[in-house]
Amino acid sequence: MSEHHTHQDRGFETRAIHAGQPADAQTGAVVTPIYQVSTYKQDGVGGLRGGYEYSRSANPTRTALEENLAALEGGRRGLAFASGLAAEDCLLRTLLAPGDHVVIPNDAYGGTFRLFSKVVERWGVEWSVADTSDTAAVRAQLRPNTKVVWVETPSNPLLGITDIAALAAVARGAGAHLVVDNTFASPYLQQPLALGADVVVHSTTKYMGGHSDVVGGALVTSDAELGERLAYHQNAMGAVAGPFDAWLVMRGIKTLAVRMDRHCANAERVAEMLSNHPKVSQVLYPGLPTHPGHEVAAKQMKAFGGMISFRVEGGEEAAVGVCDRAKLFTLGESLGGVESLIEHPGRMTHASAAGSALEVPNDLVRLSVGIEAIDDLLADLRQALG
Ligand SMILES: *Cc1c(COP(=O)(O)O)cnc(C)c1O
Repeated sequence: MSEHHTHQDRGFETRAIHAGQPADAQTGAVVTPIYQVSTYKQDGVGGLRGGYEYSRSANPTRTALEENLAALEGGRRGLAFASGLAAEDCLLRTLLAPGDHVVIPNDAYGGTFRLFSKVVERWGVEWSVADTSDTAAVRAQLRPNTKVVWVETPSNPLLGITDIAALAAVARGAGAHLVVDNTFASPYLQQPLALGADVVVHSTTKYMGGHSDVVGGALVTSDAELGERLAYHQNAMGAVAGPFDAWLVMRGIKTLAVRMDRHCANAERVAEMLSNHPKVSQVLYPGLPTHPGHEVAAKQMKAFGGMISFRVEGGEEAAVGVCDRAKLFTLGESLGGVESLIEHPGRMTHASAAGSALEVPNDLVRLSVGIEAIDDLLADLRQALG
């Protein structure tokens, strides 16, 4: 369709800035313009310029982002959606039919669990839950009709770690697709396709966008044929990323590497402080040698990310109190922005999992550690813990 400036042989930071984004042919603009347009003049019936016909099917700003996403994940095809859940919905309706079965993690983003349990199930898709950090537990859930094994690593909100390469072998042996939600790690820290995953899912709302100013989602696959089927469904169902949203995500991605370096460095310091705090009973951070997934994380991730969960002595009320007293850590859902956020998963992001196999402990607090000055972040948490 458009020129192939995928820069596949270049370093990650170079690809983040340039892949899919040659200078504008007409003006030389170094940033891809926001093509805020729905339709395109044809040179005679069917005479499309660069393949553009109607912006649900393709839009040049979205194409730039989609080529960039493919280059960052080392895939053949990237697709950008209106939200992470729109991307997941498109993927599931492309891969599954009534009567199929999927294995989902016992620790997943609440909205992903809701999509399976309240929406996809009504269309005759069976699902079962497994601790995906335990390869044998996943194998035990496989059925002859299993078509998808779904993994989130690090997981939300318990920061569980799954061995992607091991599960890719399990899924392949069962004739199922391995899907990895790479939202927490971002492609800078983890490359699931290179480890054998078939499809990577992102909420680009989080680290990719990085500034808490856009909602978006993405799919990337290294299977060109599957990429075609996904693109067909993306157009047929229509939950595409709009041009301005695509542009904001691209703008965010240019600084992904430097932001992630700081998120990781700050999170390491916060995890260390929390580990030594008397009011904290447990810290869940894959960078800690005591974390059960530490070795696998060290093997498959460049660093351990900016997300930390911890359990507070004194139960639910104490955990809610910490969230309420934090000042610099803003009380709110979402994650992955430059600003630090704090939340109570049991009452906020994971309320929809209450009473299910995905229920989270009620003394749990989740942090998205931002890129502010580390001493300010540590001081705020110390005062919030009291
Ligand atoms: C936020 C999130 C999603 C859903 O993405 P939206 O952009 O909110 O639709 C999926 N997976 C994970 C891990 C998330 O954090």
